[in-house]
Amino acid sequence: MPTRRTARGAARTLLPRDHDVLVCGASFAGLAVARELAGSGARVLVVDRYEIGERQTSACGIPTEWLRAMGLMAAHRQTFGRLVIHTPYVAARLELPWTFSTFDYPELCSRLWEQSDAAFETATVRGRTGRVVHTDRGDLSAPLIVDALGWRRVLGCGYQPPDAPLSRGLEVHPWGAGAELEIWIDRRYVPAGYGWSFPARDEVRVGVGSFDPRFHVKDTTVLLAEDLDRAAVRYQGNWIPHRLRDATEDGVFFVGDSAGHCLPLTAEGIRTAFYFGIACGRELRAVVEGRRTAAEALVRYHDFSAAHGWKFRSMLYAQRLIPRVPPRLLSRALVAMQWRRFVDWSFGHYLRIAPPEFAAGGPPRIPLRPAARAAA
Ligand SMILES: Cc1cc2nc3c(=O)[nH]c(=O)nc-3n(C[C@H](O)[C@H](O)[C@H](O)COP(=O)(O)OP(=O)(O)OC[C@H]3O[C@@H](n4cnc5c(N)ncnc54)[C@H](O)[C@@H]3O)c2cc1C
Repeated sequence: MPTRRTARGAARTLLPRDHDVLVCGASFAGLAVARELAGSGARVLVVDRYEIGERQTSACGIPTEWLRAMGLMAAHRQTFGRLVIHTPYVAARLELPWTFSTFDYPELCSRLWEQSDAAFETATVRGRTGRVVHTDRGDLSAPLIVDALGWRRVLGCGYQPPDAPLSRGLEVHPWGAGAELEIWIDRRYVPAGYGWSFPARDEVRVGVGSFDPRFHVKDTTVLLAEDLDRAAVRYQGNWIPHRLRDATEDGVFFVGDSAGHCLPLTAEGIRTAFYFGIACGRELRAVVEGRRTAAEALVRYHDFSAAHGWKFRSMLYAQRLIPRVPPRLLSRALVAMQWRRFVDWSFGHYLRIAPPEFAAGGPPRIPLRPAARAAA
């Protein structure tokens, strides 16, 4: 179990209230928003129920170029130029046109935080009434409010599993090394979804994700770990939204999983949390700098996110289709997919849904507070 560093009891005093931007959630999406506001002069408060980087929320795999573009290579752990897809009949080896990397979650969060000049407080967000956000440390309000709290969408209309478009993901983190980035499309592990093994230098993240929220993945996560001769230890899991939602509601900006920004089919939600977090941060910055009104920023950010709708719908369509393809036919298709030009074309399109070049521009990316690393 991770050690809890979050303040408790008497240490949980009332929060300071005087802010221009309130960012709720300090993981990928919330930290990307705060980073984009650095140097704008805005008084930004970020709140999370845990300290920054305290609770890992994913297997932490991302296209390497995104790590580089965000200035986060210090958190890098391992790089892969190939994806191995196992079915009961074949192991297809796809040579990727770009590389994928795993990273260390606390290190990445701490490095992201270094690039912002926001204030941070631990607080559990309980809900919202109009412009007032309720937390266990008192009520907060700000002219600009961001929900980066993950799939629960606490500041808007939430989802209730299992009757919601949510996938279920669980993984274990045994110590050890591995050379390949691997996934399994195999009904032994999950009827609709996939299993994975993501090595990260000295640990391997082995898990199972189910597109059907009613399918429990605990037993088959253990089964996959056993099949790989890995220990089923250090669990981490969560719900994963697989449908894009409105990125604004009732004057609030939603970013990352709270807006359904995680990609269907692959459940890749880190680079999209960065991508839409940057887009949201740029709009907020324009408001703070007097170049736009808050109402204009809401419309622009909403429309930017919605313009990606057809890409998310295409991925959702594939997510629904693939589990219906008979395994032998799917295996044959995967063998055909190893053709280099097809891999380049399909993975090129996939990366362009949220391309790393988007992170370029904006304020200078120098660490603004080196001391924050020790504290985070
Ligand atoms: C097992 C698993 C493995 C995954 N692997 C990958 C992967 O390898 N690559 C990838 O791209 N995606 C992966 N994903 C998806 C990815 O984790 C999410 O899409 C991503 O974390 C979304 O980022 P976010 O910042 O929107 O939300 P989150 O990362 O979920 O962060 C939400 C933050 O809000 C805080 N919070 C929540 N509720 C409250 C509250 N009430 N009050 C205060 N704070 C609160 C949390 O503490 C957290 O810090 C995986 C998901 C799972 C479940």
